[in-house]
Amino acid sequence: MNYDIIVVGGGIVGLATALKIKTSSPFLKVLILEKENELARHQTGNNSGVIHSGLYYKPGSLKAKNCIHGYHLLVDFCKQNNVPFELCGKIVVATDEKEIPLLENLYVRGQQNGLQDLRKLTREELKEYEPHVTGVKGIHVPQTGIVDYKKVSEKYGELLLQKDADIKLGEQVIDIQTSTSSVVVITQNASYSAKLVVNCAGLYSDKVARMTVKNLNVKIIPFRGEYFKLRKEKEYLVKNLIYPVPDPNFPFLGVHFTRMAKGGVEAGPNAVLAFKREGYKKSDINLSELAETLTWPGFQKVAAKYWRTGFGEMYRSFSKAAFTKALQKLIPEIQESDLVEGGAGVRAQACDREGGLVDDFMILEESHVINVCNAPSPAATSSLAIGETVSELALKRIL
Ligand SMILES: Cc1cc2nc3c(=O)[nH]c(=O)nc-3n(C[C@H](O)[C@H](O)[C@H](O)COP(=O)(O)OP(=O)(O)OC[C@H]3O[C@@H](n4cnc5c(N)ncnc54)[C@H](O)[C@@H]3O)c2cc1C
Repeated sequence: MNYDIIVVGGGIVGLATALKIKTSSPFLKVLILEKENELARHQTGNNSGVIHSGLYYKPGSLKAKNCIHGYHLLVDFCKQNNVPFELCGKIVVATDEKEIPLLENLYVRGQQNGLQDLRKLTREELKEYEPHVTGVKGIHVPQTGIVDYKKVSEKYGELLLQKDADIKLGEQVIDIQTSTSSVVVITQNASYSAKLVVNCAGLYSDKVARMTVKNLNVKIIPFRGEYFKLRKEKEYLVKNLIYPVPDPNFPFLGVHFTRMAKGGVEAGPNAVLAFKREGYKKSDINLSELAETLTWPGFQKVAAKYWRTGFGEMYRSFSKAAFTKALQKLIPEIQESDLVEGGAGVRAQACDREGGLVDDFMILEESHVINVCNAPSPAATSSLAIGETVSELALKRIL
């Protein structure tokens, strides 16, 4: 059970990292350990399925660089491997005059990030793209697309097996022990040794990091995003993707309408504190995980700062009428009865001790472990670019 590199986590980031390693150094022995009995069971398998273009991110940030580079790598990958995707474009809609300066900022940011053919839209022009939308102004982003990230991950997994990587499912990593020359990864069933470990454990990335890092300054705070689905007979209300102008103080994009690559139209996700890291239902509670969140000094600062937004999100989570009202800002015709309950996803959002919700991707290097400690949206879009970065760091260490 000796490997060169062990990747913890069979989500899209871990799989893309392993694939990049095996592509550039096929002779290395690589193992992926995933605690579930399938790949991409968590964030990757429960997201909005949007191929983000790079519109939102601070120019020069890891998110901006990786999103744009990752976008092109992903689109090429899907073409080469026959994974269905569609570059259908999206609109971002300002629903009242106060949002116009924020919309203008987004337009400038998109241009700074190199997006071409962005188009500013008047009230009337919005209807050319989405006839049922009402807004005062908008932007059309032609590059944005849709894909099923579970299918993308499964294809990464298939290629890894073809390249002789090992993937072990149902293997939960419970400890990592390092010595000067190697590292031992212990699961409930076995021990595996390697020269290097890459931690891509998503919602548990901080827990896995703490196995070797003493004073980790971040904790993962789980934010559930709940979706409604449009009834089949109402799907005509949405042609492609319709987004609001996001609140710049909040790391999430606001509830939007998404035509899904696997079919159907979803509305959401909201962002409510999850009482369990993998808590997909409102009733899911894990007392020790909840206590850890509530006692983290950084979370207390976030709660003090954003309590109003947080309560608003909670209220919309429990009241379908309130959720519908938020959607009616974009499409006034939508009625509560047009919406049926959809699924949910839980976002892994790193929060530092000082109360900052870490905005950018975060990679921490130790002598024998590389920890991907914050890989929120658009990490699915960016997976191959993040994988490339992490693979370069890993190979520098062991070759
Ligand atoms: C609601 C929602 C909507 C989103 N929408 C988009 C979008 O439209 N576009 C986009 O680009 N991004 C989107 N994202 C973000 C994107 O889904 C994530 O950034 C991405 O999936 C992160 O991938 P990951 O591999 O890091 O995490 P995950 O997919 O969560 O994978 C981590 C894996 O590690 C495993 N694991 C954890 N602990 C252990 C352990 N101890 N031992 C072994 N295995 C372990 C887990 O079981 C899991 O399979 C969205 C996310 C959410 C939640």
